Amino acid sequence: MLKVLKFGGSSMASAAQYAKVKAIVEADESRRVVVVSAAGKRGPEDHKITDLLYLCHAHLRYGVSCDSVFGMIAQRYLQIRDELGLKTDLEGELERIRADMESGMSEAALASRGEYLSALLMADCLGFEFVDATRWLRFRMDGTVDQDWSYAALRELAAGKRIVIPGFYGALADGSIHTFSRGGSDITGALAAAALEAEVYENWTDVSGILMADPRIVENPESIPQVTYAELRELSYLGAQVLHEDTIFPVAEKNIPLNIRNTNDPEHPGTIIMERFEENEASGDERRFITGIAGKKDYAVVSISKRGLSSEIGALRRIYEIFENHGLAVEYTPNGVDTYSLVVSGSKLEKVVHSIVAQLQEKLAPDEVLVTKGLAIVAAVGRRMANRPGIAGRIFSALGREGINIRLISQGPREVNVILGVDNADYAKAVRVLYNSFVK
Ligand code: ASP
Repeated sequence: MLKVLKFGGSSMASAAQYAKVKAIVEADESRRVVVVSAAGKRGPEDHKITDLLYLCHAHLRYGVSCDSVFGMIAQRYLQIRDELGLKTDLEGELERIRADMESGMSEAALASRGEYLSALLMADCLGFEFVDATRWLRFRMDGTVDQDWSYAALRELAAGKRIVIPGFYGALADGSIHTFSRGGSDITGALAAAALEAEVYENWTDVSGILMADPRIVENPESIPQVTYAELRELSYLGAQVLHEDTIFPVAEKNIPLNIRNTNDPEHPGTIIMERFEENEASGDERRFITGIAGKKDYAVVSISKRGLSSEIGALRRIYEIFENHGLAVEYTPNGVDTYSLVVSGSKLEKVVHSIVAQLQEKLAPDEVLVTKGLAIVAAVGRRMANRPGIAGRIFSALGREGINIRLISQGPREVNVILGVDNADYAKAVRVLYNSFVK
């Protein structure tokens, strides 16, 4: 049995956090592969090491000394090592990085050093072998991961061992370092779990799983015990931010459960994400058909009305084409007879609104084009909503009772979500009403 664990920046931020990680890893024999992020913030005023590394690179590019920034990076890792009484030759490592910087290190190579140093120290701390990501994580020239090559390489490197791997980066075929986009250590962990066919991919962070609603809106929301990949996609698309969005593909492909856990509360079971769950595993509570609530403010709606529009063949295509030519994604299209409404990002629309309206006038000769701003989208997401009559009705009446006007309704055929548009001003209240009516 093998578990792959990934620890995020906050779990790697200080010697005290390293000690928690060590206790977690040692609590379970099968926790054999550990992927780490660079050190993150110790508090709100602190800096992420990766940010400082990018900053160093910018200094170098403009010929400004980065001694003080580099000093902060060095000091953080030296402090962790010394407080833990570890033996890693950090001075030598830091000197090498400094020398590489002088000889024109790439931005990716420099940015990757946070994970590299974290992994060296964590390997020392756990007594595991350090396996550099450049030895197995192979990127193609187009930036995608060569999974077959990478999986085979890791399987060989990890066989029968306990290892620590730096997240976030790998190498191109010529050996040069390439990184994922920010937050990418999540993807490294998922790839390692998929390569080694892990029993579970544990993603350790500083929250006890994915919360059912935004904690800035709902006080102390519960965390979601189980969520499917499809539900998670819906929730994260509308703002629930826990994982890098490309994390789930490698593990979903192999149906490996992804468990989000809290390093600061290791007893909490966190959230388990899987392709599907046995139906009787559902929480049993009849009201719990909602898995989570997410949403975003500041959408705009462009409504095009014209008598006979609904029977005009190709009208919707022409409308879409205008939005497409302006690089504007259409999020939802609730329609009425002879009116098409397109929901788009308010800020993106603002930049092109005049041109879009002018082209709509020209190409469709509508009776009216109306632009409404300040719309918030609220989504109630839940796999248990499918095939259950009466759910939408209960959602609408809960909102109606609280005097919230619903301005838009959309539900996909998979019935995994009910999407509502409300005024920006009603957004927080709508989220709270849904949470209090169906979760609490
Ligand atoms: N250290 C990288 C970042 O800050 C990657 C990660 O932590 O996942 O983006």
